[in-house]
Amino acid sequence: MIKSETIIIGGGPAGASCALELKSRGRQAVILDKEAFPRSKLCAGWITPAVLRDLAIQPQDYPYGMLTMKRLQINVFGRRFTLPTRQYSIRRDEFDSWLLGRTGVTVFTHQARKIHKRDGSYIIDDAFSCKYLVGAGGTFCPVYTALFKDIRPRAPESLVLAMEKEIPCSTKDNLSRLWFFEHGLPGYAWCVPKEGGCVNAGVGGSYSGMKKKHMSIRSHWDSLTEKLENLSIDSRECSAPRGYAYYTRQDTGPADLNTAYLVGDAAGLATVDMGEGIGPAVRSGILAARAIADGKRYLLGSVRRFSLRDILLPGRA
Ligand SMILES: Cc1cc2nc3c(=O)[nH]c(=O)nc-3n(C[C@H](O)[C@H](O)[C@H](O)COP(=O)(O)OP(=O)(O)OC[C@H]3O[C@@H](n4cnc5c(N)ncnc54)[C@H](O)[C@@H]3O)c2cc1C
Repeated sequence: MIKSETIIIGGGPAGASCALELKSRGRQAVILDKEAFPRSKLCAGWITPAVLRDLAIQPQDYPYGMLTMKRLQINVFGRRFTLPTRQYSIRRDEFDSWLLGRTGVTVFTHQARKIHKRDGSYIIDDAFSCKYLVGAGGTFCPVYTALFKDIRPRAPESLVLAMEKEIPCSTKDNLSRLWFFEHGLPGYAWCVPKEGGCVNAGVGGSYSGMKKKHMSIRSHWDSLTEKLENLSIDSRECSAPRGYAYYTRQDTGPADLNTAYLVGDAAGLATVDMGEGIGPAVRSGILAARAIADGKRYLLGSVRRFSLRDILLPGRA
């Protein structure tokens, strides 16, 4: 049996931020992740200044490609606005792997399946044991299923479906483009520039909203690819996008239980307006670590519920 004071299940931004904060406070932690890093993660890779602040990252110190997006084009109800902003884009395989390496904690490649409590310790798959357990395993986190699904039920209305692909693009205007509510989509489509001549294009929206209107996310992807042709993106590059589901914020119950904590997507913390999940994952990971280290309540009050205000008013972000 491998023992650690804290075990974090999931080494994405939520788990890595929690591990880094615990380590900086002299507390012992290990991470279990079902995949060896670098691993692929579906995501547009848009990060806000708040993420860099919380992680104490200076863009110039990041060893991989980080693009600063200074302009944002918003398309809504047939109108187009271009606004100044200050946001960043990264590639998740690089970013997550770098964050995880930065923690300096031991990472086991292990898919956690069975979790139970014995004599005050959490036991994972009869192979790992800990006093504090952090569920950072994303939407399908086993800590959520084992301990939280009845006390923090997930509301179907907060489920988001998203589909995306990274595509080569010769347009180098570094403009981030968003299209809201096109063709009745209860959400938005995006085209986010990346370092190295690529964009991440995608669509995302409320699952229940699409179901009510008998829409499929795939049909919205097809509409987006038509727009991308105006950016000289070959429609053949848009084949085989990949989809994923996650939950936006709804505090239906506690995200802690005795000495177990849920962070990031496992807790369903993405912002309600934009489905931004990296910032809430990072902040909640740090808050859980502080709760463990200081013996205080795990409160999610400082995890942002909305993104748009800070994106549109970059001075405040
Ligand atoms: C298409 C798409 C685009 C998005 N774009 C953005 C964006 O641009 N900006 C933004 O802020 N957010 C975006 N999001 C949301 C964002 O990706 C997530 O909110 C964020 O990744 C949550 O981080 P996390 O650490 O909680 O979970 P994850 O990043 O999902 O990490 C969870 C980790 O847990 C591991 N794991 C899972 N199950 C187990 C298990 N049983 N045992 C061990 N390990 C396990 C996984 O391998 C994974 O490494 C997007 C989401 C999608 C689907």
